[in-house]
Amino acid sequence: MLNIVLFGPPGAGKGTQSQKLITKYNLVHLSTGDLLRAQIAQGTELGLTAKKLMDEGLLVPDAVVIGMIGSALETNPQAGGFIFDGFPRTVAQAESLDQLMASHNTHIGCMIALEVQEEELVKRLLERGKTSNRPDDQDETKIRRRVTVYNTETAQVAGYYAAQKKFHALNGIGPIDDIFGQICGLIDLHQAAKPETPAEATKEVKA
Ligand code: AMP
Repeated sequence: MLNIVLFGPPGAGKGTQSQKLITKYNLVHLSTGDLLRAQIAQGTELGLTAKKLMDEGLLVPDAVVIGMIGSALETNPQAGGFIFDGFPRTVAQAESLDQLMASHNTHIGCMIALEVQEEELVKRLLERGKTSNRPDDQDETKIRRRVTVYNTETAQVAGYYAAQKKFHALNGIGPIDDIFGQICGLIDLHQAAKPETPAEATKEVKA
């Protein structure tokens, strides 16, 4: 199984690159932002509570997103692997993700971070806000708050994966296909260096 965390601030290009990666590597895309927006669209209680925080650019509680990821893993038992986009955003979420992966006899292969400076992020998100219909993309103050939340609460998650020697960073500014090529290069290197865990190997032999 190939499980990748795509990391970076809002507007770094995680969603765009995820779409290309799921096609190339046959993965399931799990974006907690998309899962939360689906809850909002369905008008669930969870969605209503989350919306208030999301519209302000603040994080929703760890337990909410961890629960959603746990359910998504259960509902995709045939997946060849997952791309996590926008999750984990706190160290507590990263720890829970490791536990969830272990309970499915798998693990995170690597984290790939897309680095983009704040002024470029603001420009990109305001542009996206013209068509995304997202209140958090349409107001510069909210966008800058999301970047601040990333810097203060989320950036430290990189250290969690660096300690496991799974962290890689790339420049997120440049042609989409060039960045995609660099991400694929890193994934292919990782796969060559670290094949499946013994548990996964046994599963494949049995299958
Ligand atoms: P995104 O689509 O990834 O930019 O996420 C939009 C918003 O959803 C964020 O600003 C948060 O309010 C919320 N959100 C998404 N993923 C998470 C997460 N892993 N932890 C907490 N809040 C999240």
